[in-house]
Amino acid sequence: MTVIVTGGAGFIGSALVRRLNAQKRRVVTIDKLTYAGNPDNLAGLPHPELHRFEQVDICDRAAIKRIYAETKPQAVYHLAAESHVDRSIDSPAPFIETNVNGSLVLLEAALDHWRGLDATAKGQFRHLQVSTDEVYGELGITGFFDENSPYKPNSPYAASKAAADHLARAFGRTYGLPVLVTNCGNNYGPYQFPEKLIPLTILNALEGKRLPVYGKGEQVRDWIQVEDHAAALQLAVETGRPGETYLIGARGEQRNIDLVRKLCAILDELVPQQGGRKYAELITFVTDRPGHDARYAIDPAKAERELGWKPVYDLATGLKATVQWYLDNSAWCRRATATYDRSRIGLG
Ligand code: NAD
Repeated sequence: MTVIVTGGAGFIGSALVRRLNAQKRRVVTIDKLTYAGNPDNLAGLPHPELHRFEQVDICDRAAIKRIYAETKPQAVYHLAAESHVDRSIDSPAPFIETNVNGSLVLLEAALDHWRGLDATAKGQFRHLQVSTDEVYGELGITGFFDENSPYKPNSPYAASKAAADHLARAFGRTYGLPVLVTNCGNNYGPYQFPEKLIPLTILNALEGKRLPVYGKGEQVRDWIQVEDHAAALQLAVETGRPGETYLIGARGEQRNIDLVRKLCAILDELVPQQGGRKYAELITFVTDRPGHDARYAIDPAKAERELGWKPVYDLATGLKATVQWYLDNSAWCRRATATYDRSRIGLG
């Protein structure tokens, strides 16, 4: 049995590919290798003979059709995306191209492939649209998103993901394609491109650079360790009900400023600075992100109940292991940031 993972050279996709490969699953990674895609993320797979890499743009209809015909996947985990909100503020078009048009190309290829299967294989096929809690807009100081929350995306990124979620569900309803959607909170862990808050903070701190915090840092995000997310994605495909949405969250709510302070405290412990200086002294409040959502928080009860999923990491353990990973993998960090200087973007 073969599965396709799109975006498998990215942060979450590579965690999923590493997980499936360790379980000796046959995986085809489709990835264009944008600035965020990194073949190093898939180096050292324990069973390389079971992994096939296709450097392909998901918008390339002919190439996607060829891969489906050659590999006959039983499931598709669709993660390829432009994923950074700040970049979507500066330049929304690539987000529509990949996240909306590319998702449509994949759904059409899946439908063609699925229609040619026998009844048993048709019943087993799954297409998973991997999405974000950002499609639901923002919460006030109380309450949680759940599977019945209305879509209200506020950034171009969130709007593009929302469009793809709607298309996926429409393919399920209109054509009967066995589609599932998962919406997850903010991921952290190894191999995350250092434009995102946690690796950016760690690498800047180690270089003695300022640690930019947007606005007053009061926005709340719901954090989940990336391997916990990958486990949930596999359970959604293997045990979830087609047509359903599952919200994936680890009850890891945190204000941005508190998260950055926690990272600083971990760094103080693991790599103390000379003279007893504290990394938190580098925190600098900068102009807020335009349209910055105040709070995201997920009620994961349905995923816990129906998929039997439970996160392994709590935030404290997961953050410490993450900081240690970036400390231990400075060569990866150097290569990943060779074309990106960590300067501020997304002011519109
Ligand atoms: P990422 O930016 O690290 O990786 C995205 C990958 O997709 C990269 O390898 C990139 O090369 C590839 N890609 C981009 N455009 C492509 C195209 N046109 N064709 C083929 N490949 C292309 O992103 P991530 O953080 O790993 O996120 C993966 C998925 O999970 C995305 O769909 C994102 O919306 C979703 N998600 C992310 C988070 C998070 O906190 N990072 C949270 C919830 C949902």
